[in-house]
Amino acid sequence: MPINLASSILSIRGVGPKTEKILNKAGIRTIRDLLYYLPRTYENYTETTKLSEIKPGKVIIRGKISDLKTSHTRRRNLTITEGVIRDATDAIRVVWFNQPYRAKQFDETKDYYFVGNYDFSHGRYQLTSPKAELAQDIDRIKKQNSTYRPIYPVRGAFKSEGFHKIIESIRPEFASIPDLLPETTYSRSGARADALFKAHFAESDADVAFAREYLAYEELFELILASNLNKQENQKLRATSIPFIPKDIKQLVEHLKFKLTNAQRLAIFEILKDLEKATPMNRLLQGDVGSGKTVVAAISAYSAIRAGHQVALLAPTAILASQHADSLRELLEPFGVKVTLLIGATKHKETIKKEIESGEVDLIVGTHALLTDDTRFKSLAFTIIDEQHRFGVDQRQKLLEKTVVSTGLAPHLLMMTATPIPRSLQLAVFGDLDVSILNELPAGRQPVTTRIISELNFKDALYPTVRSYLAKKQQVYWICKKIEESNSSETASVKKQAQKLETIFKDAKIAFLHGRMKPDEKDSIMEQFASGKVDILVSTTVVEVGVNVPNANLMVIMDADNYGLAQLHQLRGRIGRGHEAAECYLVTTNDRPSRRLKELEKSTDGFYLAEVDLKLRGPGEIYGSLQHGALNLQFASLTDSRLISVASKDAKRFASACANNHETLSQYPELMKCIKQYQQLTTLN
Ligand code: ADP
Ligand code: MG
Repeated sequence: MPINLASSILSIRGVGPKTEKILNKAGIRTIRDLLYYLPRTYENYTETTKLSEIKPGKVIIRGKISDLKTSHTRRRNLTITEGVIRDATDAIRVVWFNQPYRAKQFDETKDYYFVGNYDFSHGRYQLTSPKAELAQDIDRIKKQNSTYRPIYPVRGAFKSEGFHKIIESIRPEFASIPDLLPETTYSRSGARADALFKAHFAESDADVAFAREYLAYEELFELILASNLNKQENQKLRATSIPFIPKDIKQLVEHLKFKLTNAQRLAIFEILKDLEKATPMNRLLQGDVGSGKTVVAAISAYSAIRAGHQVALLAPTAILASQHADSLRELLEPFGVKVTLLIGATKHKETIKKEIESGEVDLIVGTHALLTDDTRFKSLAFTIIDEQHRFGVDQRQKLLEKTVVSTGLAPHLLMMTATPIPRSLQLAVFGDLDVSILNELPAGRQPVTTRIISELNFKDALYPTVRSYLAKKQQVYWICKKIEESNSSETASVKKQAQKLETIFKDAKIAFLHGRMKPDEKDSIMEQFASGKVDILVSTTVVEVGVNVPNANLMVIMDADNYGLAQLHQLRGRIGRGHEAAECYLVTTNDRPSRRLKELEKSTDGFYLAEVDLKLRGPGEIYGSLQHGALNLQFASLTDSRLISVASKDAKRFASACANNHETLSQYPELMKCIKQYQQLTTLN
């Protein structure tokens, strides 16, 4: 009988309620959970070191222990257990801290394996706090399977050895582990059973490598299949078809103060073509900071509004929403579009909500404040989300509901992001989205020059530069030290910095901004800066997103080492938004600047930097836990573009086989369950 992966671990002989409880605490409930609880590493007990040949570093040695004694240091309140380990060739010192039981643990006549670090400390070489195993126990395991001993991650009270015993007891059942995936180029029948077996009972590095790669492939296949199926399901939904009327769009484009870039034209065209369809658009507009996403959004929105529908634009912060509302008003009001702003601080919300419900307003710009239950739309057909990675699944779900309630149809969705998504990640996670890319900055824009400077000589290097910008009547962003502990000290630091600058740049008007301020306070400061009433804006990273002040061309970022690459690039995007040259100074206290800072100095290409960032930090950090809580990959690396591309081809082939009824997913119930959790990751519908 094949092993039933869904059955409780209690069905394993030898696992009683007590063990069950401990395993449950480690998140292990079913046999499947147990099988996928993989060794963290392996110890190879054939690779023992003779004491005559021992070198500093991690070692496995076999020998007898003697001369054990325990002492106590009063000053540091430590228990020290010392002894001597001997083999046929030599002897070394061993020491444990705060493990007094070690003094009584050993039988001096028996051999033990010791696994630990041999290094120089307290004036001599010694083996420090090694693990110790009775040699005959290990030798028994060795005989049974291999010299590789799996070391399981320890959770709570349960030791690696305990997992090992349980896994050992179901060893004969491994052969009957059912397949999870359909047959693909990579996954022949029995491959999963093989991989799991090799993971738990590895006999060589090749076994371990095979197991890890197969399980990584399995995850990637699931993830990519999920997004492909999302796309298929999306195709079955209906949305409001919005006619593309070139004449109307042309009028609007001619009215702009600038010429659209080719990238903008193409993106607008792609979007308008999508909106025409009766299937919902699911499109991601990627464009580096300053690439001009707003106008793309505005023109697309106009098309829907001309057709008699409403459009909602969701922004992550109040400042950003207000700024969007302003620029959209300027752009679209001459064409009879009514724009309204709905944020937390909005007065007369009730009136505005009535106007939304009656259809008096066409374009509703807001923060999550517009997602409350009592905001009802007359005919919401198109939704735009700025900085989409800042929103969670729930918030997008709310938008979906509002659309369906108002039109009975699914929404067209345009998601905008200034954090470019590397191609591998795009393929793996966002495969169901169509993508438009603004890879071209508006004409006349000069790339920001970035310089790393040491805090030590920064007065000489920087103050004259600041003065020269002030003399040109250009404005300055001064990003303060990042403070981890509490927000109040962040406030203090911003104030202090502002006061200090006031004594240095006496004629400049200096204001400060931080996350603790009330939204309208923030808005008012930002407005003063935008209108040129403030010369130097001292701020935390709250200015990070979206705000547009074209006359600000110098940015100083204190303690730049404390920020991520993407965040620094984003911050830097606040300057150089007009036609003047702009400079960004990354101030560091380190003697040797980090790789991050050097990359920023070298490149202004957001896509390149995103690739670097992905490699340096991994996707979780970059794309936030908010949206990717479900993106909890155990084995796969989203930087492994080779495996991703294989899995992507296979998953696509399978998805289209399903679409053509050559395959049905319901034949793979376990797979179906696995991908459900991924499916809600990216899509709205
Ligand atoms: P982002 O992509 O960062 O959201 P914005 O939409 O805020 O960028 O645009 C940045 C600035 O560039 C705005 O002042 C906008 O009016 C201007 N802009 C947009 N497109 C063009 C263009 N094709 N030519 C000149 N300026 C443009
Ligand atoms: Mg923007």
